[in-house]
Amino acid sequence: MSDQQHCPGFESNKSLSEVIVKCPGCGQEIELFSDETSKQVKCSNCSLLFDPTASEDS
Ligand SMILES: [Zn+2]
Repeated sequence: MSDQQHCPGFESNKSLSEVIVKCPGCGQEIELFSDETSKQVKCSNCSLLFDPTASEDS
């Protein structure tokens, strides 16, 4: 509740970078903000839940 006192808007997102991840199930590209890669993502195409960091080769 208290964290919705004002809309964050686009300005506050400047510190976040956009990350494109591919769904391991269907190959759908999904756009995330960098702070969303620490949690599971649901593919908008096939509804598969996956961990975006697991698909990175490093
Ligand atoms: Zn998918």
